[in-house]
Amino acid sequence: MRAAPAYFDHNSTTPVRPEVLDAMLPFLREHFANPNSVHAQGQKVRRAVEEAREKVARLIGAADPAEVVFTSCGSEANVLAVQGALEAARERRPGAEKAPHLIASALEHDSIRDLCARLKARGFSVSVVGADSGGRVSPEDVARAIRPETALVSLMHANNETGAVQPVEEAARLCREKGVLFHTDAVQTAGKLPLSASRSGLDLLSLSGHKLNAPKGVGALWVRSGTRLTPLITGHQEKNRRGGTENAASIVALGAAAELAEREIEERSAGLQALRARLEDGLLAIPGAHRTVGSGERLPGTCHFCFPGIRGHELVVALDLEGFSASSGPACAAGQRNISHVLAAMGLAPELAEGALRLSLGWGNSREEVERLLKVLPEIIARLRDSRDTRVPAGESQGRGTR
Ligand code: PLP
Repeated sequence: MRAAPAYFDHNSTTPVRPEVLDAMLPFLREHFANPNSVHAQGQKVRRAVEEAREKVARLIGAADPAEVVFTSCGSEANVLAVQGALEAARERRPGAEKAPHLIASALEHDSIRDLCARLKARGFSVSVVGADSGGRVSPEDVARAIRPETALVSLMHANNETGAVQPVEEAARLCREKGVLFHTDAVQTAGKLPLSASRSGLDLLSLSGHKLNAPKGVGALWVRSGTRLTPLITGHQEKNRRGGTENAASIVALGAAAELAEREIEERSAGLQALRARLEDGLLAIPGAHRTVGSGERLPGTCHFCFPGIRGHELVVALDLEGFSASSGPACAAGQRNISHVLAAMGLAPELAEGALRLSLGWGNSREEVERLLKVLPEIIARLRDSRDTRVPAGESQGRGTR
């Protein structure tokens, strides 16, 4: 009998935990009222939404739950932070000689990269700060890019592809010294790494439900008190910061997931690191294996390798046929090289970057699944290399870093 499919793509999305679903379902069934209604049924939902806000605030170390704004997803939280801060800066200084300036890193999620292009087209100015070969942005480079008209810096907390954790606290401190607002996209770190939003120099922090075992379609933006943002959706909800009737059931689910994550964060992190260590030992034994980020702090369950002589997306398809869900990089048109912007920013050679494989571990993964994957992976890679008639010297491992 064939084993159940094994899911190694938790950075892409995560399963909803049963406890989270149990918390959410009553708000789809019986407690359906609008949390903004004055009647008792509405106020019951309001209380549940506010409890969820407290749980999210605790997870990220926010001093005041009122600083948490619920959104429809992590992308919306990112756009509200970045566009909202830039527009608010422009509204504060109408007719200023220079338009507000944004600094973002070259590693950011597409929700921010695409927004940068749109903001430029609307007359804002944007600087992009590069990364080193280890996938990290230097806080000093960020500080050097600051100009008198800089309104905001946006630097992700950890990269979704490589798992490299960025020096956000140091960068935020340098920005605060210069009076510049700082946003971090913590979509990949909320629930995985301890956060202390209020005690850090951060002003804005985004997170997303579906990356921490809550459903898709709910996120949050933490906004330090006093930070001015122009809303994307007008309306009185969320203290005029985000219009639209709150998605109460999903917000309750996000609260339940945040509470679980807060309680389990250390144990989860240790478990994921142990599983990843075994996975990486096995991967490093594959000829030509290149661990993309070898040193420095990484997300506990993220494992990113490149295998020269293959195409990552072909590897992902071959793994899928064997019952393993994994990820590579951007989808690529036949015959074309399509290298992820993250690996390009790190200066990885295209032949290497093309053979990218991301395995991201999370709730539900077992040692048995890792062993099963390690049994088939070397054979699949050898077969793909043969089919492309590309030879990599056998036994020559380029795996970087030592553990
Ligand atoms: N930021 C990062 C780093 C992500 O990995 C993702 C999702 O892949 C997002 C933002 C967007 O989150 P959502 O899917 O909730 O819009």
